[in-house]
Amino acid sequence: MEERIVLYPSPGIGHIISMVELAKHLLNQTHHNYSITLFLTTGFLDHPSIHSYINLISTSHPSISFLRLPLLLPSSAASNTDSLAATAFEFIRNNEDNVGLSLKRICESCVVKGFVIDMFCTSALSVGDSMGIPVYYFFTSGAAVLALYCYLPEIHDQIKESFKDIQLELQIPGNAPLKAFHMPEPVLDRNDAAYWDMLYFCKHLPKSNGIIVNSFEDLEPFAVKAIKEGLCFPDPTQIPPIYYIGPLIAQANHPKDKQNSGVETDSYLSWLKNQPNRSVVYLCFGSRGSFSITQLKEIANGLEKSGQRFLWVVKRPTQDEGTKQVHDTTTEFDLTSVLPNGFLERTKNKGIVVRSWVPQVEVLSHESVGGFVSHCGWNSVLEGVVAGVPMIAWPLYAEQHVNRNVMVDEMKVAIGVEQRERDGFVSEEEVERKVRELMESERGREIRERSLKIKEMAQVAIGEFGSSTIALAKLVEAWN
Ligand code: UDP
Repeated sequence: MEERIVLYPSPGIGHIISMVELAKHLLNQTHHNYSITLFLTTGFLDHPSIHSYINLISTSHPSISFLRLPLLLPSSAASNTDSLAATAFEFIRNNEDNVGLSLKRICESCVVKGFVIDMFCTSALSVGDSMGIPVYYFFTSGAAVLALYCYLPEIHDQIKESFKDIQLELQIPGNAPLKAFHMPEPVLDRNDAAYWDMLYFCKHLPKSNGIIVNSFEDLEPFAVKAIKEGLCFPDPTQIPPIYYIGPLIAQANHPKDKQNSGVETDSYLSWLKNQPNRSVVYLCFGSRGSFSITQLKEIANGLEKSGQRFLWVVKRPTQDEGTKQVHDTTTEFDLTSVLPNGFLERTKNKGIVVRSWVPQVEVLSHESVGGFVSHCGWNSVLEGVVAGVPMIAWPLYAEQHVNRNVMVDEMKVAIGVEQRERDGFVSEEEVERKVRELMESERGREIRERSLKIKEMAQVAIGEFGSSTIALAKLVEAWN
């Protein structure tokens, strides 16, 4: 009978892309004749780009198929105060029966060797279990965040308040000390249903058949060791196999690359080509990282004063000072109205500002890029690592403060920006100081050298006898 792996990402294009990358990696690297099916929910965070993306993948990779689960709408019981994560968890829970039926139907004609879910899909773990199908998590953040989540049940028992409300510094195995209010976003507030769903997920991590992590052992040795030694788990005798198979980074053909960025793609890529080696600072804050107009102006002034060349991706500004992400990244806006008067004109020989989106992996691979100001989203971190570009770490949301610590203290490939504690604000003087430090100082030079070293380590990890290659082989062995 045909052997199949079923992957189940949570809704949203970002999660789907990550799972597709895993699927492609499994097909490319394992030389095994698996077919792969991705379950896709319908009714929440649907976007036309998903449709075109899956068409593209189905054509280029015939062994990957997509199965649309029947339409369900997010429950009307979800109150307006529920976070997006809480709504997602509930929506995925409501899809449980459909997941079971679809798995059953596939099992009639195939042997399902593994069922791989992401962290929002824990409710599907028991579905796979009850059918005797081994269930694995695909963990799209790094080992430090994995260590943190494995340890969360322990912290939950010790601390009774919401992390967002306390000043305490948390000691988490495999992690640098972390201020409680810098914990990953979905666990900040106990009054949000997402907190309890996350706790449920954390308690179920050790019950899976294995955890596939998009990182590599030498990138985060502290966290990898803490996990291996069982320091993060409530029961050190119950540690599932962990497979560090990264760095897995998205190929070009990202659907969003086609979005209107306000500048012709060719024009800024050819501008980049004409800049001296390692002279350009690239600033980009992920798929939705954004700032208030006040903060944008500070960045602009800091950049201008630094005198460095730059390529800066600016998203539609947020309405208020505290918000650091936008969900609508397609609506047009006027760059001149959100930047200081005359900024674009004064800096036209030094830099380029692009609205909304650039193909990041391609940008980072340009020789002229010498620094990357990043929001510390894990994909961006790995892309910076693979390109060997030194970074300035400017965490905004999600689990990015944890990643920032890893980048600055452990990998030593980044300088951290000083952020105002209350709201994460960064002054123009700080922007100028850190950009100069990265591009001009002795410390910047050391970080650049270290970044090149880590880049080599990444290449080794995915090379013929590298740790990530071996981990993937072990995963396939487990399936067989
Ligand atoms: N990205 C891109 N161009 C942009 C902004 C983002 O190609 O202008 C890609 C980036 O290369 C990465 C992903 O979008 O693969 C962002 O993922 P990450 O985990 O860094 O951050 P998130 O968007 O999830 O916060």
